[in-house]
Amino acid sequence: MNYRNHAKIKLNHPTLCRGDFYLNCGDGWYQLIDEMLTEIEKVRGQLMPRLAYIEPNKGRMKAVVDGMNAEIQDIIDAYEYRSQRICEGCGGKGQPRSGWIMAACNDCR
Ligand SMILES: [Zn+2]
Repeated sequence: MNYRNHAKIKLNHPTLCRGDFYLNCGDGWYQLIDEMLTEIEKVRGQLMPRLAYIEPNKGRMKAVVDGMNAEIQDIIDAYEYRSQRICEGCGGKGQPRSGWIMAACNDCR
Protein backbone atom coordinates (compact mmCIF):
# COMPACT_ATOMS: atom_id res chain seq x y z
CA MET A 1 0.00 0.00 0.00
CA ASN A 2 1.36 3.40 -0.86
CA TYR A 3 2.56 5.83 1.79
CA ARG A 4 -0.41 8.18 1.39
CA ASN A 5 -3.06 5.51 1.95
CA HIS A 6 -1.04 4.03 4.81
CA ALA A 7 -0.97 7.47 6.46
CA LYS A 8 -4.74 7.92 5.93
CA ILE A 9 -5.48 4.58 7.60
CA LYS A 10 -3.38 5.62 10.59
CA LEU A 11 -5.05 9.03 10.74
CA ASN A 12 -8.58 7.55 10.54
CA HIS A 13 -7.93 4.88 13.17
CA PRO A 14 -5.36 6.24 15.64
CA THR A 15 -6.26 3.81 18.45
CA LEU A 16 -6.16 0.64 16.35
CA CYS A 17 -3.09 1.82 14.44
CA ARG A 18 -0.95 2.92 17.37
CA GLY A 19 2.60 1.62 17.14
CA ASP A 20 4.07 -0.08 14.09
CA PHE A 21 1.75 -1.84 11.67
CA TYR A 22 2.24 -3.16 8.17
CA LEU A 23 -0.07 -3.03 5.16
CA ASN A 24 1.69 -5.40 2.78
CA CYS A 25 -1.09 -5.36 0.19
CA GLY A 26 -2.29 -3.42 -2.83
CA ASP A 27 -4.14 -0.09 -2.70
CA GLY A 28 -7.29 -1.74 -4.05
CA TRP A 29 -8.05 -2.94 -0.54
CA TYR A 30 -7.82 0.52 1.04
CA GLN A 31 -11.61 0.98 1.28
CA LEU A 32 -12.11 -2.54 2.61
CA ILE A 33 -9.50 -2.05 5.33
CA ASP A 34 -10.83 1.39 6.25
CA GLU A 35 -14.36 -0.03 6.65
CA MET A 36 -13.15 -3.05 8.61
CA LEU A 37 -11.28 -0.88 11.10
CA THR A 38 -14.33 1.38 11.47
CA GLU A 39 -16.45 -1.67 12.34
CA ILE A 40 -13.89 -2.86 14.88
CA GLU A 41 -13.72 0.60 16.42
CA LYS A 42 -17.53 0.56 16.90
CA VAL A 43 -17.58 -2.68 18.91
CA ARG A 44 -14.29 -2.60 20.81
CA GLY A 45 -15.75 -1.01 23.97
CA GLN A 46 -13.03 -0.99 26.64
CA LEU A 47 -10.81 -3.34 24.66
CA MET A 48 -7.66 -1.90 23.13
CA PRO A 49 -7.05 -4.05 20.04
CA ARG A 50 -4.08 -3.11 17.88
CA LEU A 51 -3.58 -3.73 14.18
CA ALA A 52 -0.36 -5.72 13.63
CA TYR A 53 -0.40 -6.34 9.88
CA ILE A 54 -2.46 -7.00 6.79
CA GLU A 55 -1.21 -9.08 3.88
CA PRO A 56 -2.58 -11.14 0.99
CA ASN A 57 -2.82 -14.85 1.71
CA LYS A 58 -4.11 -17.43 -0.77
CA GLY A 59 -6.16 -14.95 -2.78
CA ARG A 60 -7.69 -13.13 0.14
CA MET A 61 -6.79 -10.58 2.77
CA LYS A 62 -5.30 -11.74 6.04
CA ALA A 63 -5.62 -9.27 8.92
CA VAL A 64 -3.83 -9.80 12.22
CA VAL A 65 -5.08 -7.77 15.18
CA ASP A 66 -3.69 -8.18 18.69
CA GLY A 67 -5.89 -7.99 21.80
CA MET A 68 -9.22 -8.77 20.20
CA ASN A 69 -12.28 -10.80 21.16
CA ALA A 70 -14.68 -13.14 19.32
CA GLU A 71 -16.84 -10.29 18.05
CA ILE A 72 -13.86 -8.58 16.45
CA GLN A 73 -12.67 -11.91 15.03
CA ASP A 74 -16.08 -12.28 13.35
CA ILE A 75 -15.70 -8.85 11.72
CA ILE A 76 -12.24 -9.73 10.48
CA ASP A 77 -13.46 -13.08 9.14
CA ALA A 78 -16.27 -11.37 7.22
CA TYR A 79 -13.93 -8.81 5.63
CA GLU A 80 -11.33 -11.43 4.78
CA TYR A 81 -14.07 -13.35 3.00
CA ARG A 82 -15.25 -10.22 1.13
CA SER A 83 -11.70 -9.46 0.00
CA GLN A 84 -11.74 -12.45 -2.36
CA ARG A 85 -14.05 -10.48 -4.65
CA ILE A 86 -12.21 -7.17 -4.51
CA CYS A 87 -9.24 -6.58 -6.79
CA GLU A 88 -6.15 -5.89 -4.70
CA GLY A 89 -4.79 -3.69 -7.49
CA CYS A 90 -7.65 -1.27 -8.14
CA GLY A 91 -10.54 -2.08 -5.77
CA GLY A 92 -12.79 -3.23 -8.63
CA LYS A 93 -14.64 -6.50 -8.87
CA GLY A 94 -12.09 -9.29 -8.73
CA GLN A 95 -11.79 -12.97 -8.16
CA PRO A 96 -9.06 -15.27 -6.88
CA ARG A 97 -6.61 -16.03 -9.70
CA SER A 98 -4.52 -19.10 -10.09
CA GLY A 99 -0.75 -19.08 -10.46
CA TRP A 100 0.45 -16.30 -8.20
CA ILE A 101 -2.74 -16.37 -6.17
CA MET A 102 -4.20 -12.90 -5.84
CA ALA A 103 -7.66 -11.36 -5.89
CA ALA A 104 -7.62 -9.37 -9.13
CA CYS A 105 -9.87 -7.94 -11.84
CA ASN A 106 -9.21 -8.65 -15.54
CA ASP A 107 -7.21 -5.43 -16.02
CA CYS A 108 -4.91 -5.89 -13.04
CA ARG A 109 -4.43 -9.58 -13.50
ZN1 LIG B 1 -8.02 -4.34 -10.79
